[in-house]
Amino acid sequence: MPRTPSEKGWAVFEENIDEERIRFFETIFTLGNGYLGSRGVLEEGHSKGYAGTYLAGVYDRSGGQSYEVVNVPNPVSVEILVNGRKLHPEGMEVVEHQRVLDMQRAVLKRHTIFADAGRRYEYESLRFFSLKDIHLGVMAFSFRSLDVDTEVTVKHTIDGKTRNEVQSVGEPIKHYTVTHTSSLGNGILYLEAKTPDLRIQIGIATACNINGVKPESGVTAKSCADEESVAEELFFHAKKGRRYQFNRYISIYTSRELRQGPEADCINGVQTAIQYGVSNLLKRHSGAWGRRWKCSDIRIEGDPAAQRALRFDIYHLLIAAPPQDIDVSIAAKTLSGEWYKGHIFWDTEIHTLPFFIYTQPGIAKDLLRYRYRRLQQAKDGALAQGYQGALWPWESAASGRDETPQSWVNFDGTVIPVYNSKREHHIAGDVTYGVLSYYQATGDEDFLLQYGAEMVFEVARFWASRVTYNERSKHYDIKEVIGPNEFQESVDNNSYTNYLAKWVLRSGAGLYDCLRKRHPGRLRTIAKRTALRKQEIEFWKELAGKIAFLADGSGLVEEFAGYFDRKDVTISEWDENGMPVWPHAVTLAKAKETQLVKQADVLLLLYLFSNDFSLEAKKTNFTYYVERTTHKSSLSMASYATIALEIGDIQKAQMYFNLAVNTDLGNIYRNTELGIHAAALGGVWQIVAHGFGGVRLKDGVLSISPRLPDTWRQLRFQVWFRGALIELTQSKGEVEVFMSRGRRAVDLEIYGNRYSLQKGQRVYAKEG
Ligand code: BGC
Ligand code: BGC
Repeated sequence: MPRTPSEKGWAVFEENIDEERIRFFETIFTLGNGYLGSRGVLEEGHSKGYAGTYLAGVYDRSGGQSYEVVNVPNPVSVEILVNGRKLHPEGMEVVEHQRVLDMQRAVLKRHTIFADAGRRYEYESLRFFSLKDIHLGVMAFSFRSLDVDTEVTVKHTIDGKTRNEVQSVGEPIKHYTVTHTSSLGNGILYLEAKTPDLRIQIGIATACNINGVKPESGVTAKSCADEESVAEELFFHAKKGRRYQFNRYISIYTSRELRQGPEADCINGVQTAIQYGVSNLLKRHSGAWGRRWKCSDIRIEGDPAAQRALRFDIYHLLIAAPPQDIDVSIAAKTLSGEWYKGHIFWDTEIHTLPFFIYTQPGIAKDLLRYRYRRLQQAKDGALAQGYQGALWPWESAASGRDETPQSWVNFDGTVIPVYNSKREHHIAGDVTYGVLSYYQATGDEDFLLQYGAEMVFEVARFWASRVTYNERSKHYDIKEVIGPNEFQESVDNNSYTNYLAKWVLRSGAGLYDCLRKRHPGRLRTIAKRTALRKQEIEFWKELAGKIAFLADGSGLVEEFAGYFDRKDVTISEWDENGMPVWPHAVTLAKAKETQLVKQADVLLLLYLFSNDFSLEAKKTNFTYYVERTTHKSSLSMASYATIALEIGDIQKAQMYFNLAVNTDLGNIYRNTELGIHAAALGGVWQIVAHGFGGVRLKDGVLSISPRLPDTWRQLRFQVWFRGALIELTQSKGEVEVFMSRGRRAVDLEIYGNRYSLQKGQRVYAKEG
C-alpha cells in the first residue's frame, strides 16, 4: 500500500496516536462528498474519540433545543482481535503509526504496528467516500502477524449506538431508532434506522470480502446483532508474515432522496460495488476529484507550508459542497462535527460562497437555491417579528424555520440566552449580497429572473419595514440589532447592518428599473407574484439615502450609535502567533460595556464594499479597530488580511493570512475537534484570490492587481467569470492571463489597463 501521495503539498500526516489529539485528527481527517461527511475515526474506536457521520439535510429534534444534524450509525467500525485480544491503542503498545490524508484524491490511509507481549501485528487501511458514486464508501484493510502464527477475529460492524453527544447546552440525544437489521450472507449486513420527528429512514449496507490470499485454515463467518447494531465476525488462522486483505463496501441512502425505503438501493449499492472492486471504484473516485480540483486548486510556489495549508482548506470546502442539487447548504462546521448543530448561518453567503462562485459556480447556485426554496419561511419569519418581506433565520436547517437555540455556552463556560434570531438581522442583507455577487460574477440571468430578483425585492421590502423614522435627525434608524460583533447584543444603527440595508434598497430599486427595460414581461410576473407596487420602489430609493450611517470627516466609521462612548479598552498584547491576548482587566461578561469587538464588523463592511471607501478611510478604520478586535470568531481574519493588504501593510496581511490558513490545521481556536471552521476557510480563499491575487469585481469588470508576499515566487489559480474560465499566473509585478474556456469575450482590467479576452487568448502584463 503506497504510504504517501505523490507530492507532500497534498498530504496531511498523523505520526502517532496522541490521546489529546484524537478528536482533532478526527476532524482534520474527515472524509466526505457533500452528501455525507464522516469523521476520521480510528476504525477500532477510542475512548477519547468521537465517531460522527452526518448526512447533508438529515436533521432531527427529539426534544432538543432545535433541529440538529443527525449523527447516524457509524459505518466504519472494524476491530481485529488476536487470540481474543483487540488491536487497540489503549490495550496494546503502538510501535509504529502513521495516517495520511491524501487530499488530491480524498483518501485516508493508515499504517499501524501494534505490539502485545512482544509480538507485533500490522494493520493497514485505506478508506474513502466516493465523489463519483455519492452513496458509496470503501474501506480496504489488511492484517499481518509479524512474529507468530495466530488465531484472528475480524469484526466489522454497523454501529447504531451513536448519539449526538456534543451539546452546548443539554444532554446527549440519540436522533434515530434502529428499526431493523439483517445479515444477508456473503458478508452483507444491513441496518435501517428512522428519525423520530421527520421519520427519515436511513439505510446502511456493508459488504466485507476477503481479498487476495485466502487463509489456509479457511474462514468461518458468524453474524451477530443486538437491538442497535449488526456485525459479522470472521475467524481464521493467520500465518506469520502473511498479509490478509479485506475489502469492505458501504452504501448509504435515505428516504429523503428515494420514493421507497432505502433497503433495496443500499443492498444493490454494495453488490454493484463488489463487482467494480476497490481499484475501479478508487479510479472513478480519483477521476471525480481530479475534475473537482481542476478549477479549485491554487498553486503557491515558494511557500510549501502555505501551499499545504491552503490545499487543506480547499479540500474541506470541497468535501462540504453538495455534489448536485440536493437542497442543502453548507453548515458552519460542514459535515465534520455537530457543533452549531449542523446549522446554516450567514457564514455561507458571506464567507464560503465566493470560493464557489469563482471556482464551482454550479454549486454556488445550488447554495443560493437552498435559500430561495425557503423564501416563504423567510417571509413568515419576517411577519412573525412584525416586519414585511423576507428575513431568513439566523440559523436554519432543513425546514427553513428559525433553528437558533434559545441558550448557549459562552467562551467562559456560562450559559447565556441567545438573542440572535430576534436581532441579528443582517443575515437578510448577507443573503442578498450572495445573490448579487453570484449574478455579477456569473452573469447568470436565468438565475436572476427565476430566483434572485424575487429574493432581492423581498429583502428590500424587509428593510423598508425594519426602519424607524427619527424626527430629530431626519434620518431612518435601524434599532435593536446585533451586528457581526456579537458582544453587543442590542445596538442601534450598526454601521454594517445599515450600510447593507441601504445597499439592498438601492440594488432592489436599480434591479427593478433594469428589469423594466430589459425584461418587462418577466418583471410583471415577479411583481405580480410578490404583489410589488411601484410606490415601494420609490420609497426604497428615498430610504436608501436616508438610513443613518455613522462616519465622521476622517472616514472613521462608528460601529454603532454610542460605540465611541463605551469604555475604551484596547488590546496591548498579542501572542506568538499574532492573536490578541484578552485584556486582563475585562471579563467576557463586561465586554459589552467596552469597545472590544468580537470579530470584524466595520472592517468587514469596508472589505465587502471595498470600492465605496477610500484608502484613507480604510487606513483610519484599520488602525482604530485593529486594537479593539479580539478575533474571538474565526470569521474575522479575512477582512483584516485583505484590508491590511489594500492599505499596503503586507506584513500584517501575511500574519492574518498565516493565522487564517492554519485555523484548523494549526488548531488556532483550540476547538477544531468540534469541527471545521468553514467560514474561515472560505475567508482564506478570499484572502488569496481577492487579496494577494488581487482579483476583484469593479463595476462589472474583473480587475486583476496582485500583490504577492515576498516569499511567493508564483501564484497560479483559475476563476470562472461570466462563463469564461480564466487561468492566472502571477509573480512579482507580473501577470499572465489565459482564457481557456468560454464562448463570449470578457472584459478585464489588469493593473488598471483594460483588455478584452477571447477563448484561447493570453495576455501578459507588467505592473507600472
Ligand atoms: C454564536 C451565535 C449563535 C449562538 C447559538 C453563538 O456562539 O455566536 O451566532 O447564534 O452561538 O448557536
Ligand atoms: C460567529 C458568528 C458565526 C457563528 C457560526 C460565531 O462565533 O460570531 O458570526 O455565524 O459563529 O460560525
